[in-house]
Amino acid sequence: MKTLTELHFDNRYARLGDAFSTEVTPEPIAEPRLVVASEAAMALLDLDPAVADDPLFAELFAGHKLWSTAEPRAMVYSGHQFGVYNPRLGDGRGLLLGEVVNDAGEYWDLHLKGAGQTPYSRMGDGRAVLRSSIREFLASEHLHALGIPTSRALCVTGSTTPVWREKRETAAMLLRLARSHVRFGHFEYFYYTGQHEHLTTLGEHVLASHFPECQAQERPYAALFREVVKRNAGLIALWQAYGFCHGVMNTDNMSILGITFDYGPYAFLDDFDANHICNHSDDSGRYSFSNQVPIAHWNLAALAQALTPFVEVEELRETLGLFLPLYQAHYLDLMRRRLGFTSAEEEDQELVQRLLQLMQGSAIDYSRFFRRLGEEVPEQALKALREEFVDLAGFDAWGSAYRARVERDGGEQADRQARMHAVNPKYILRNYLAQQAIEAAEQGDYAPVRELHAVLSRPFDEQPGMDRYVERPPEWGKHLEISCSS
Ligand code: AMP
Ligand code: MG
Ligand code: MG
Repeated sequence: MKTLTELHFDNRYARLGDAFSTEVTPEPIAEPRLVVASEAAMALLDLDPAVADDPLFAELFAGHKLWSTAEPRAMVYSGHQFGVYNPRLGDGRGLLLGEVVNDAGEYWDLHLKGAGQTPYSRMGDGRAVLRSSIREFLASEHLHALGIPTSRALCVTGSTTPVWREKRETAAMLLRLARSHVRFGHFEYFYYTGQHEHLTTLGEHVLASHFPECQAQERPYAALFREVVKRNAGLIALWQAYGFCHGVMNTDNMSILGITFDYGPYAFLDDFDANHICNHSDDSGRYSFSNQVPIAHWNLAALAQALTPFVEVEELRETLGLFLPLYQAHYLDLMRRRLGFTSAEEEDQELVQRLLQLMQGSAIDYSRFFRRLGEEVPEQALKALREEFVDLAGFDAWGSAYRARVERDGGEQADRQARMHAVNPKYILRNYLAQQAIEAAEQGDYAPVRELHAVLSRPFDEQPGMDRYVERPPEWGKHLEISCSS
């Protein structure tokens, strides 16, 4: 266990030089106070959980103090935003403080989001509001607990520094952890500016630091791209299986590691709706729930373009072709588990599709459905779930097919329930739950956000006394409008 001052930095990305990032000092926020911290994330840095009580903790993560071995820098990148290439993006409000090496030898980027203006801020103020910082914190730690690869969140620090959005709010900072902050957009930046030497430096850095198994192969970049396609297919399968909408799948928000990255107006589905658009500014529904699959493919094609100096176009194209079949196989596997099956049958895909069609338009709560389905023998569970469906005859037909399938799969109900409960969360981060915790935090009461975080970090466990967190959203909570950067 370490204290805060014992962290060991080795800043590999900073050493790549000024073509890759710019030195910027964090601009502190006033009267910092710790809103919420994640002990699980602290453990990644070998930090003793008690350090969160040290005033130094909030000072470090509000930009007031800095380790002498940290090297805060804003990274440059570009990317396709809503399908349109933006030649110059970059860390406009976040800084890579440095890379901490833990006792296991793992490198963790410390990224302070909301740390003030940088050369990439454009018209922005370089700040993050309390509300969006809490949303990113809760989602990062919850997705991790669900088993979905993601950047992590160490803590949120609040302040009295005013920030203007639609109304006056207060500034906060989020300390994000990730093994790397390199995005598809980093590759695009060096490719489109014609800096192919730097593109190579970036590629070598990514290979050496994060994909040594690809670097060891005969054609490292071809192997790298294959790995990125594979990881993204797995990631998107998890998003779709668990009803997670990212909301802003611009290529600058896509991690080269295949982790969920840059939380904005994300949402977990309450009622199942394949066409759900969680981003209030996404008028065309480019990033709607079901579009996440083709959009991930599109984003990988954008990355492939930036890798053309390293890999033959024909091979890139072939590798891109792996995405959809890989995705489908992963997705089907996850849905089989959610339905409690241990075996695979040809017709499972149709069974899943038919279920989603029945849910569509029936106002069926997506997460609760699966949890409830595992709670009793199929016959009883289906009887309880049936009432909510509009197409009763359709659901009955599905139910008999499901019962027969469960029968063929065999096994005991107790085992099936344990299996299903281990993959079907009881607790899910619903927008209205985040909203309630945020409203309390905005009034200075951090107990609700801390409790919500604790509940959501054990999403599969029964947690006595926490039943209010499994309720479906109240009317107001179904129509929360959340837009891009805030
Ligand atoms: P996002 O929508 O979060 O992916 O952000 C898109 C771009 O805008 C990134 O380059 C961000 O760094 C930048 N950005 C977002 N919010 C701000 C802000 N308040 N101040 C400066 N830059 C920002
Ligand atoms: Mg972004
Ligand atoms: Mg963002």
